[in-house]
Amino acid sequence: MADSTLSALPRMDALLASPPLAESGLPHALQKAGANRVLDGLRAALRGGKQAEIPTLAALAEQARQAAEELARPGLRRVVNATGVVLHTNLGRAPLSRRAAEAVAQAAAGYSNLEYDLAAGKRGSRTARAEELLKELTGAEGAFAVNNNAAAVSLMLSALTPGMGVAISRGELVEIGGSFRVPDVMARSGARLVEVGATNKTRLSDYERVLESGQAQALLKVHPSNFKVVGFTQEVGVEELAALAARYGVPLLCDLGSGALGPGPWPQDYPTVRKWAEKADVVCFSGDKLLGGPQAGILVGKGEVIQRLKTDPLARALRLDKLSLAALEATLMDWRDGVAVPVRTMLEIGPAELRQRAKSLAALLAPLCPCEAVETAGEAGGGTLPGEELPSWAVALDSAEELETFFRGWSIPILGRIHRGKLLLDVRTLLPGEGELIREALAAWKGERP
Ligand SMILES: *Cc1c(COP(=O)(O)O)cnc(C)c1O
Repeated sequence: MADSTLSALPRMDALLASPPLAESGLPHALQKAGANRVLDGLRAALRGGKQAEIPTLAALAEQARQAAEELARPGLRRVVNATGVVLHTNLGRAPLSRRAAEAVAQAAAGYSNLEYDLAAGKRGSRTARAEELLKELTGAEGAFAVNNNAAAVSLMLSALTPGMGVAISRGELVEIGGSFRVPDVMARSGARLVEVGATNKTRLSDYERVLESGQAQALLKVHPSNFKVVGFTQEVGVEELAALAARYGVPLLCDLGSGALGPGPWPQDYPTVRKWAEKADVVCFSGDKLLGGPQAGILVGKGEVIQRLKTDPLARALRLDKLSLAALEATLMDWRDGVAVPVRTMLEIGPAELRQRAKSLAALLAPLCPCEAVETAGEAGGGTLPGEELPSWAVALDSAEELETFFRGWSIPILGRIHRGKLLLDVRTLLPGEGELIREALAAWKGERP
C-alpha cells in the first residue's frame, strides 16, 4: 500500500469537527478516544491490506461516535434474562428484591453506621444485625457472613482444621466452577485431604475407619449441588455424620453450597440450612443462590465455633462490603417477614401462569414478527437443583441467529436461547416491564431490515 493512502487519512481535528462527533454531546475526551480508535483501526487495516479505500469523513466520524458511545457505557450493564435459567451465574445469579435494592442505594449514597453502635455511641460490629437475622432464621447459635461461599469454605478450613486430616467422601470432591475445586481449596487452607469411600458409595464405616486410625481429625460434608449421581449410590447423611463426629470428639464442617433456608419451591428432600445447622458444627452456603440475595458466604453453627471464625486473621481479608451487607440484611428481612424474594417467586410460578405470560408476550410481538407461545424447559441454575428441569413457557421467534445477535447488541441486551432453529424467550425469568423492552428492540430490528 502506498504511503499516500495513509497520508490521506483525515486529521483528528477534521474528525472532531465533523457533525456526527461534534454534535454527539459526549465528553471531549471520549470523542477523541473514539476517533483514535477508528483511525488506529483504519491505519492497521490499510497497512495489512484488509482495506484499500478510506471512507468519507462523515462515515468515519459516525464510526468514531459509536466507538465513543461504547466507551461511555459501563462494562457491567443491565441485561434481560430470557434464558429461563433463574440463577444464571454468567448473568449475576440472583436479582435482588426491591427492599434489598433500596437498601443498597441508601448505603451507597451516604454514610452509614457500618461499624458504629448508635445506642452505645461507640464502635460496633458490621455484621451484628445480619447475624441476629441469620440466627433467627436458621436456629443456629452463631452466624457470620463473608464475601462469598468460596471464601466461607476457605475460612472454615483455615481457621478450624489447619494441619489436620479432614475426611471427605470421594463422591463430594467436587468442582464448583471457576477453578474452585474442593481438594485444591483444602490443600490451600492447610488441611490434609483424607478421601473416604468411592465415587458412588460412601458408608459410615468408611469415615469411622479414618477417625479410628487417627488419619482424620475432622469431617467435611459438601453438598454436590451442581451434579447428581444416580443408580447404585449411597451417602452418609449429616445426622449420622454428626453422631459419629460427636463420638470421636471431632468437628463436622458442611458446605451446603446453595442455602435453602427452609421448605420452598424445591424438592422436599432438598437439604435445608436449618436441618444441617441443627447437627453440624458449622454450615456454610451462598447468599446469591436459593437465598436470593447478594453475593455472600454465610456461616452458621455453634457459637464458639463461629467466634473462632470471626476472630481469625483471614476474616478481615474476606469480609463483606457495606453494599452487600445492606442487601443481605434486607434479603433476610424479606425471608423473616414472609415476603418472597424474586428468585423464589420465579421458581414458584406455575405452568398456567407461565403459559398466560407467554401468550401475552406473543400477542405483543406478533404484529412485528411471526411468533408463538411454546412449552420449553428452563432450570434453576447456579448449581442448585441439578437434574431438575423447570418446565416453562417461551415465545419462539424466527430468524433465530440474526435476531439473537441483534438482541445481544441492543442497548439493554436481551439474552434468549436458540433451540431447533427458533429463538426462545423464556418468560419465567423476565422481570416486570421487560416484555415492553423486547417489543421495542424487535421494532428497531424490523425497522432496520430492508
Ligand atoms: C456454589 C458453591 C460454592 C461456591 O459459592 P460462591 O458463593 O459462588 O463462592 C461452594 N460450594 C458449593 C457446594 C457450591 O454449590
